[in-house]
Amino acid sequence: MIPEKIIVASSNEGKLKEIRDILKDTEVISMAQAGFCGDIEETGLSFKENALIKAKAVSLQTGLPVLADDSGLCVDFLGGAPGIYSARFSGEGPAANRALLLKRMQGATDRKAHFECAVCLYFPDGKTIFGTGKTYGKILEEECGNGGFGYDTLFWSDDLQKSFGIATPQEKNGVSHRARALKDLISRL
Ligand code: IMP
Repeated sequence: MIPEKIIVASSNEGKLKEIRDILKDTEVISMAQAGFCGDIEETGLSFKENALIKAKAVSLQTGLPVLADDSGLCVDFLGGAPGIYSARFSGEGPAANRALLLKRMQGATDRKAHFECAVCLYFPDGKTIFGTGKTYGKILEEECGNGGFGYDTLFWSDDLQKSFGIATPQEKNGVSHRARALKDLISRL
């Protein structure tokens, strides 16, 4: 069973909302609400390593079980980039990240991509449980819709046959990398 109350090691409102919607019966508290202050440097070389770094840092400071999500967009034509660097791709935030992605994809015929997510639940006694999930699709040639966050408006979901930018939150949560990673984690608890 997932704890009734967990801290999520993120300040990304888009992620927090999705995690709250997916873990309906759990009270999800942001790290800021739990009084965590400070930056966590994501020095890992994989989604799993970064999820562990974030969950452990917040759990050690708060003494509570902490869930962290590390996720990103992996584009075949770009050799898997931006991957773990998705949030920092342009260095100037989400809109600039999308603009840079469109620029790098100019003229590309292979537009296959997937979102990937690793979640880590870290308990104060050091117990650590991971979950991973992916969702496949293509990079659109222009933005479609205005829903979601991050790269959603540029991602055509193979499962939904529509852009994540026009999918409802329920539709996205039905197929997303994040929902799949959380389901995987819950199956290991
Ligand atoms: P993190 O905070 O290092 O895990 O960064 C995750 C980044 O990947 C986000 O800032 C987005 O740019 C991107 N990303 C992850 N999941 C999603 C998603 O569900 N939709 C759109 N972009 C996402």
